Amino acid sequence: MSEATGPGERQEMPRLDGMPPVPQPRRPEDFDLLYEQRPPWEIGRPQPALLALAEAGAIHGRVLDVGCGTGEHALLAASLGLEATGIDVAPAAIERARQKAAQRGLDVRFVVGSVLDLSGLGQLFDTVVDSGLFHVLDDDDRSAFVDGLRAVVPPGGRYFLLCFSDRQPGVLGPRRITQDEIRTAFADGWRVDSIEPVMIDSTHQRGAAHAWLASITRT
Ligand code: SAH
Repeated sequence: MSEATGPGERQEMPRLDGMPPVPQPRRPEDFDLLYEQRPPWEIGRPQPALLALAEAGAIHGRVLDVGCGTGEHALLAASLGLEATGIDVAPAAIERARQKAAQRGLDVRFVVGSVLDLSGLGQLFDTVVDSGLFHVLDDDDRSAFVDGLRAVVPPGGRYFLLCFSDRQPGVLGPRRITQDEIRTAFADGWRVDSIEPVMIDSTHQRGAAHAWLASITRT
């Protein structure tokens, strides 16, 4: 379910325990503020599900990390010798990503920008990795994002999506995504190869959340 929100408003998740709603970050400045401290998704290493894909050789060619945060997955691609780009709307995240690249001696193009304007990157990509971006987008942005993605991924290119799943109980954190929502969003111009149940690691005290890892090919 998506709540109608005007510009500058935050989406809120109702709480089942009667407490006030939990504000969900929506605006660039909300995300930027979260990076002043350590956000729960900032684990300082790649997500295990995406690392496993890289180790299996599934990440290749020119790689784009959408909503890259502090860049762990773009940095992972660069460490494999691949040409990597990361884009995020939060300047604080990109600054940290650039610092990490310098510290690790890796060459990555990190861009402050919106995933709703991927054409602005002026490049095509063979592999796109998404760790926790899709599930923060509302319905309208989700469809604009997929349209833009279609334009920068040529046929045969792949998109790997790691998102919170509807198997995750409770309401804390981002929107839960169903397998049907993934198949619907990628019905046009894509083939959904697989959707597997995996976990997303976090620094939250419970440590990990139920997630989907979707492997999707541009047709
Ligand atoms: N991929 C990172 C961060 C996940 S959190 C990781 O795994 O650690 C989601 C990220 O998406 C945040 O960094 C947020 O700033 C970014 N984001 C949210 N909306 C965005 C948009 N429209 N364009 C680009 N980045 C966005």
